[in-house]
Amino acid sequence: MRIDGTTGVVALLGHPVAHSKSPEMMNRAFQEAGLPYIYAAFDVAPEKLGDAVRGLRALGVRGWNVTIPHKVAIMEWLDEVEETARAIGAVNTVVNDNGRLVGYNTDGAGYLHSLRDETGLDITAQRVLLLGAGGAARAVGHALATAGVRHITVANRTKEKAEELAAHLRQWTATDTVGLADLNRVMEETTLLVQTTSVGMHPHVDEIPIDPSCLHDRLIVSDLIYRPKWTRLLQEAKERGARIHFGLGMLLYQAVLAFEHWMGRPAPIALMREVLETSLQGE
Ligand code: NAP
Repeated sequence: MRIDGTTGVVALLGHPVAHSKSPEMMNRAFQEAGLPYIYAAFDVAPEKLGDAVRGLRALGVRGWNVTIPHKVAIMEWLDEVEETARAIGAVNTVVNDNGRLVGYNTDGAGYLHSLRDETGLDITAQRVLLLGAGGAARAVGHALATAGVRHITVANRTKEKAEELAAHLRQWTATDTVGLADLNRVMEETTLLVQTTSVGMHPHVDEIPIDPSCLHDRLIVSDLIYRPKWTRLLQEAKERGARIHFGLGMLLYQAVLAFEHWMGRPAPIALMREVLETSLQGE
């Protein structure tokens, strides 16, 4: 691609950003779509976030992704935070429309899109066990609750955070909490297990957040971790006849939706999936 004075810029703000797959995926996507844009990652320390946003606005950067640890803090620097992002309490995508900055959250919608696309399941029939109550759980919990799942149980190491998230999700659907020691009790009636903790993530690949003996063949087990692709939880679930939903789909579709916010046209999904799968192979 020719890079000159007409080339547009899209960015990633995080801390750290060195291992992000987004630059490779987005640059290939812009190329494939014939769009004159480049995507660049910036490692921004928390105390520099405001300066970074002022700089991006002044330079006319088209938009940016926001990742850990800036997803909440970014909101104070924006002109508007769209309703879903406000309800989740975090922004992962910013669009710069001629100097007006609008924040979106594509994590929850990306998750739901991937779940529907890859499993074809009837969302409204699901009884969900949501493991974890961090940032990812907030986005995914909001998406599932507003899509009308029948029931959500939240389980988290820090019980107060589980209770806080459950109280929030109760606005949209029946939600309760369970202690990690009592998970076996709710697993029998669970149809969709959504694993949003960092337990089992590379390099701690032998770790598993629940007792595998409570997994069963009426479950869909969805693990947000994508490094490794086959977490120990997914392996144990597969062995017990459960259906599997990988974390890569959420990573892909949150990016697809961000691309569409910036560019106002469909993203090259197949190419983006291929880039992610290739770059995560062996990790
Ligand atoms: P976060 O806000 O830091 O939340 C971490 C969660 O994991 C909390 O619920 C925490 O419990 C729990 N946890 C951490 N260590 C634990 C342990 N040893 N035992 C039990 N629970 C533990 O992180 P996040 O942003 O939500 O990300 C969580 C995971 O989701 C990460 O693995 C991340 O890679 C993955 N993720 C994937 C995608 C995707 O696109 N596929 C997107 C976002 C995140 P406490 O509340 O008790 O600390």
